[in-house]
Amino acid sequence: MQRSNRSGEILVIGEIREGTLHSATVELTAKARELADRLGTKVTTLLMYDRVDMNVEDLAWWGADVVLCVVGEPFRYFNQEVYTNVISYLIKGRNPQIVLAPATTSGRTYMPAVAAKVHTGLTADCTGLDIDADTGLLLQTRPAIGGNIMATIQTPNHLPQMATVRPRTFPVPKPNRGRKARVEHPDLPGEVFTSSIEVLGKEHQEGMDVNIQDLDVVVSGGKGLKKAENFNLLRELASLLGGGVGASRAAVDNKWISYPHQVGLSGKVVSPKVYFAVGISGSVQHLAGMQTADFVVAINKDPEAPIFRVADIALCGDLFDIVPRIIEKIKEQRGKE
Ligand SMILES: Cc1cc2nc3c(=O)[nH]c(=O)nc-3n(C[C@H](O)[C@H](O)[C@H](O)COP(=O)(O)OP(=O)(O)OC[C@H]3O[C@@H](n4cnc5c(N)ncnc54)[C@H](O)[C@@H]3O)c2cc1C
Repeated sequence: MQRSNRSGEILVIGEIREGTLHSATVELTAKARELADRLGTKVTTLLMYDRVDMNVEDLAWWGADVVLCVVGEPFRYFNQEVYTNVISYLIKGRNPQIVLAPATTSGRTYMPAVAAKVHTGLTADCTGLDIDADTGLLLQTRPAIGGNIMATIQTPNHLPQMATVRPRTFPVPKPNRGRKARVEHPDLPGEVFTSSIEVLGKEHQEGMDVNIQDLDVVVSGGKGLKKAENFNLLRELASLLGGGVGASRAAVDNKWISYPHQVGLSGKVVSPKVYFAVGISGSVQHLAGMQTADFVVAINKDPEAPIFRVADIALCGDLFDIVPRIIEKIKEQRGKE
């Protein structure tokens, strides 16, 4: 889309899975509110679902002016084509100046297709958003060149300016419970719901119950773990810390742990308060998924392992010696409390 509407709304693409609102929806709505106040425009949050366990109007508490609800059976399972069709149709009709979506697995799937359909660009996996005081353009910051620099990107030539944002990038402000939003159910042509993808059902895979992107502590293991059973050591540490278990692709490829646990370029992007990298070398592809963690503890027997370059605490030694000692220490400390 050519630039035409610098006064349009900010459209936030929300996410609801099995009736539950993803926390990134609230986080992005609140960030959009802050940006919209600077631009003097409104915030619309789009929700697509077959059922929902909340009062959708409550999104007003975090800054939505309009909650746009598209409800129907096609949203029972994630279908990239239907999401893409609905979002693109609404963008063409509403002409927003900015569109924000969470960089979740689904957001990272449909947003590139939406960008292609509405002929604009997309800055993926942002870790910072701001407004340029002179031009009013969206400043989209994300790690680049293997995470060695933070690049701030502007997209002045096409609208809308579109970005996906890593979950847990921005703090969520306290809800303003007095705020109200208008709930709208837009009329959509039937063809946006048609798809060449037929979803036959959903199979449960180990690791799907807990989304490591939502956790404060992630304890990840790599090839250094040597076999599947050794992940129990990490499960014990993670459970003591109230966190979950992640993994490198090498561990997943070896079938020691399932894909939903994979962190990195072709896995999930996590931003926990504490990230443990245990027996992980620190390839650029792994770093792409965890380098925005607040605090990194790396355990590796190789003093030259690249993971130590991004570590806040570097524990050089055998993980089978170090991890049990950490577990013991935590238990000892808990016993004293
Ligand atoms: C397109 C593409 C996408 C990719 N996507 C991803 C991705 O999403 N996530 C990802 O992780 N990788 C990804 N990779 C793979 C990546 O390049 C690496 O191969 C992978 O991250 C290596 O995993 P690792 O660190 O577990 O294994 P290794 O690189 O083999 O490292 C194992 C580490 O364990 C240490 N170690 C061994 N034994 C012990 C011990 N007893 N105690 C302590 N330390 C020990 C070793 O010193 C070593 O540093 C991708 C690659 C490509 C090409």
